[in-house]
Amino acid sequence: MHLRTVSLLAAVAAGASLVGADAHDVRQAAPTGTDAWAAAQSKASSALGKLSQNDKVSIVSGVGWDKGPCVGNTARINAINYPQLCLQDGPLGIRFGTGTNAFTPGIQAASTWDVELIRQRGAYIAAEAKGCGVHVLLGPAPGPLGKNPNGGRNWEGFGSDPYLQGIATAVTIEAIQSGGVQATVKHYIANEQERNRETMSSNVDDRTLHELYLWPFADAVHANVASVMCSYNKVNGTWACENDKILNGILKNELGFPGYVVSDWNAQHSTNAAAINGMDMTMPGSDFNGRNVLWGPALNNAVSGNQVPKSRLDDMAKRILAAWYLVGQDSGYPTINIKANVQSNHKENIRTVARDGIVLLKNSGILPLKKPSKIALIGSAAVVNPKGRNACVDRGCNDGALGMGWGSGSTEYPYFVAPYDAINERARRDGTNVALQASDSTSGVSGVVSGADVAIVVITANSGEGYITVQGAAGDRLNLDPWHNGNQLVQAVAQASQNVIVVVHSVGPIVLETIQALPNVKAIVWAGLPSQENGNALVDVLYGLVSPSGKLPYTIGKSQSDYGASISSGNDDFREGLFVDYRHFDSKGIAPRYEFGFGLCKSTPLNRESFQKLTDPWHTRTSPTPTLPSTQPSRAAPQQARPSPADELTSSRRSPASPPPSPTPAACWAPRSLSSTSHCRPPHRRHRRSSSAASTRSSSSPAPRAPSLSTSAARTSATGTRARRTGSCRRAASASRLARAREISGSRGLLRRDDES
Ligand code: BGC
Repeated sequence: MHLRTVSLLAAVAAGASLVGADAHDVRQAAPTGTDAWAAAQSKASSALGKLSQNDKVSIVSGVGWDKGPCVGNTARINAINYPQLCLQDGPLGIRFGTGTNAFTPGIQAASTWDVELIRQRGAYIAAEAKGCGVHVLLGPAPGPLGKNPNGGRNWEGFGSDPYLQGIATAVTIEAIQSGGVQATVKHYIANEQERNRETMSSNVDDRTLHELYLWPFADAVHANVASVMCSYNKVNGTWACENDKILNGILKNELGFPGYVVSDWNAQHSTNAAAINGMDMTMPGSDFNGRNVLWGPALNNAVSGNQVPKSRLDDMAKRILAAWYLVGQDSGYPTINIKANVQSNHKENIRTVARDGIVLLKNSGILPLKKPSKIALIGSAAVVNPKGRNACVDRGCNDGALGMGWGSGSTEYPYFVAPYDAINERARRDGTNVALQASDSTSGVSGVVSGADVAIVVITANSGEGYITVQGAAGDRLNLDPWHNGNQLVQAVAQASQNVIVVVHSVGPIVLETIQALPNVKAIVWAGLPSQENGNALVDVLYGLVSPSGKLPYTIGKSQSDYGASISSGNDDFREGLFVDYRHFDSKGIAPRYEFGFGLCKSTPLNRESFQKLTDPWHTRTSPTPTLPSTQPSRAAPQQARPSPADELTSSRRSPASPPPSPTPAACWAPRSLSSTSHCRPPHRRHRRSSSAASTRSSSSPAPRAPSLSTSAARTSATGTRARRTGSCRRAASASRLARAREISGSRGLLRRDDES
């Protein structure tokens, strides 16, 4: 049943409409968990009375770079039995751990659109963090949001829509903190590129700030996040970590954030201004040479000299202590041991997310594979990095199979199953011969492909954090092409084989036009960033053990310029305003190649209860309609009711805690003879339907396409979709789309006439 997907997409599409005054105003209320904070704050107040000024300064100041077991450390305070606090990256697991898992990156989790899997991912990461004695986990990372499709760190977060980012961020924080670990949401705010991130100013208008970039942070505050990391960049001319408007004004006053603001590493620029303007903890406490200590003794002097009020120091310390009490770390917390073995069964979640995040972009009946006699497997990304899976520090290279981007948001792989490992294993059981070319050379391709029923080419695109440069990319990608001449490689294979499957492992969108134009490319499998379960997840889909249910968390355009945003060489004036990713395509009438939310064979409904619980605080809010194409702030935008995502959710998915279902051939896979309609067959039957909306549709109706909704984004999607549909599939899908759009849009009259054709 696909209705839950549609509903979340509807909500996201509605999120696209969250422009105007009230989207800001409704978030001024205190966060929902005030009671929990109140108890913690009361304990913090008592503890504060036992502390000297030195103690308080120690609580708010890192001990200096590389001076403790974690990437961030503070000193132990015996008076209140407060530990040496350990702050450790990051968003996908425990950085530098040796007995830990490398969870899937946020972008892959988002690609599942599955709240329960995302929650389980957060819970398992928390279990590993706690097992290692990590008090503060430096994630999730909804900033960058992804306005630049080639932004280096987009893959750490949950995609280029604030609603999707917000839900996934909030669920992750809830899971992490329920596991007894403090979460840190980062990077606050408007840190959308790596280039010049430590010098540039992000100049962003108030409306855009609130309705795009702040949105997931507001969700984080509502989820009671313990801490917020202020970013390296300036915001409207003032460093984010000493920006009164951003920290005191918006975060602490408007949103009512009761936790603490921690600096990004060495993002502090002053002693007094940072303190007065809202920063609460400095990390790592020095620059990366161990010098330039701006708090510690300097803050002590500033407080003693009344340049920083004592009450401000008290407030900082109290916020930090309250967060510590909030998650119950004041009793029985494990001692710090980043090398602890805490892997447990967590790889099950990694495989599931890796697999369910795979998006099928194209399939002309070639998939699923059915015991081919010979497979040709081509590409350097088909095998583990020949130098070793963790050979490159912080995953700073693009050699071998790709599982995550690079930088502080990476972890060590405990093992790595590459495409070749898993395909070869499966092929052995089927008696299939696998011919491997583990390079991207075009010259030898025809020999490898000769006699193969099918040729699988694996291509990649990588990016990461700006302190590492890989093949000329200092964090941000240089362009949206596949790396290692991926286009040429696919062309060469498509000259040698009529049955080509392209597998893409990528941090974000790549331009697929060259590949798309090749008639011999019969399938495109967007496998994203699957981390250590790379090959296993791929085999699950290629062989039809599951229906590929992922949906794109960003738009795949036909050219880089179609996105309307690019990495700035100096300051960035955010001229595109609200119109990032699909909003831009929509407002300019640009047809994408594959729209935001696209995915053939979608079949994973949300868990109604969990989603409803999550979205409860938002149910009663109203959201204005978009005022395309203006990017000017308007306080008078018309209002319309925002649909409740949960209202339209109908099916419950198996709980991640329960055993996985036995593999069944997925319904969306069709015999090759049905190639023209293979992607529009009925959705997976095992999902229950329960709402009246769902019961209006026949169980045999074609799998609807989620983005075929009532919003402007969906209209673009529907246009792109039509071109790819033919014959009965198109007619059936069109009817279903119309029915669905009517269900969702009700009388809002947002359907375009051509949706009814
Ligand atoms: C990154 C943060 C990270 C910190 C500590 C910084 O360079 O921007 O995301 O948490 O380092 O490793």
